Amino acid sequence: MMGAARGLATVLTIIMVVWLLPPWLARGAEAAADGDVAAYRRAVEQRFAQWLQELWPDAQAAGVSRATFDANLKGLKLIWSLPHLVLPDPAAPGGPPLPKALAQAMTPSHQPEFDVPANYFKDGTLSALAATGRAKLAEWRPILTAIQKQYGVPASVIVAIWGRETGFGEIDAPYDAVGAIATQAFMGRRPEEFRKQLIVALKILQEGHATRAQLKSSWAGAMGYTQFMPTDFENYAVDFDGDGKRDIWGSIVDSLASTGNSLHTQGWDGTQPWGYEVRLPAGFDCTLQGPDKARPIAEWVKLGVSRVGGPAAGASAFTQAVLADPAFLVLPAGLKGPAFLATNNFSVLKLYNNSDVYAIFVGHVADMIATNAPVGFVGTWQPVEQFPRDRIQRFQEALVAQGYDVGKVDGLAGFKSRAAIGLTEKKLKLPLTCYPSQRLVDAVLKQAKAGAPQ
Ligand code: CA
Repeated sequence: MMGAARGLATVLTIIMVVWLLPPWLARGAEAAADGDVAAYRRAVEQRFAQWLQELWPDAQAAGVSRATFDANLKGLKLIWSLPHLVLPDPAAPGGPPLPKALAQAMTPSHQPEFDVPANYFKDGTLSALAATGRAKLAEWRPILTAIQKQYGVPASVIVAIWGRETGFGEIDAPYDAVGAIATQAFMGRRPEEFRKQLIVALKILQEGHATRAQLKSSWAGAMGYTQFMPTDFENYAVDFDGDGKRDIWGSIVDSLASTGNSLHTQGWDGTQPWGYEVRLPAGFDCTLQGPDKARPIAEWVKLGVSRVGGPAAGASAFTQAVLADPAFLVLPAGLKGPAFLATNNFSVLKLYNNSDVYAIFVGHVADMIATNAPVGFVGTWQPVEQFPRDRIQRFQEALVAQGYDVGKVDGLAGFKSRAAIGLTEKKLKLPLTCYPSQRLVDAVLKQAKAGAPQ
């Protein structure tokens, strides 16, 4: 609190000075603000250096040698340009407060996954990825066939992930992985997760799988052609080209096989698709969505659900062979977008990237590659309202206070949140959509503010 008050005072002073003084003196005030930023950053870097040293007992327990530890962490600097950082305020206990200029510059931007679902499925993106995907499938067919045989994961799915993750290796990994992961562990949104990743990254270096120069990553520490985190490497990387090294950085063959092994190990069922686009009958109860409400496809058919563009004749267009298979309903935009019945393979794809639209995207591009499925979906993405993530988070907190299960309170509208929205819409006698609307969010937050009982 003290820090925030001091920060505000500093900013007010600067604003007044800038406003009152002639331009050449105002520039002096800006320089003072720059000085604040520099002092703040110095203090944070000092705290970071200390924090790195405090990592030693855990690193040692994990089998990291002092030599590896020092060689990679001594003098390591934070990567201030990474997105989604949560800057400490103050810089350290008793240190300078977060300068306002820096706080504003760090306003979080949202990943595509957090955005309106429709934006994820642009026709041009899907077509381009599927076209290149078909070419890559042809180019790498012998390897992909061997991978499919070994791990039971279709070549088209692996190619779709390769395309989605790095544009088939065209997108560079711009960051030093150790620096990016350490920065995320020190001042990112999931510090515990990245702390674990950092220690595994040190082990990867110690064991000689890659040099520090080779260990490049995305801002979130994902590495190689198919974007493995250090623990993914540890758990799933395989040597498939037979050179004795598990090389996800330099070997496309190893990368694709490692992805196959990752999906296989995490439960991919080679006899099942990822899912199907479906049509729902009018007035369908959208609260029936989510893995915890899985049931045999035959039961969905009884509820009036039919497959879109299925190969079989008949009202539901599902083949007889799949009717006993369990599946669950996925409505990424509630009733305001296409509907899908998903198998457990969909949940396995989400282990790669925990997002419904990611799994649908990969599954659909794989279908386009393998079967020339049409570009988009039969269902249409209707316009939906956009919300800042923190507002959805407050909305979720209010729903939890009313006794609803929203899953993780994270500002994202996942399965449980969408189902809880449907239940709330029913209670408030609003049109059933299972997707956040201004009207609903306003109503729930207003109730929460008034302290109204449910
Ligand atoms: Ca290899």
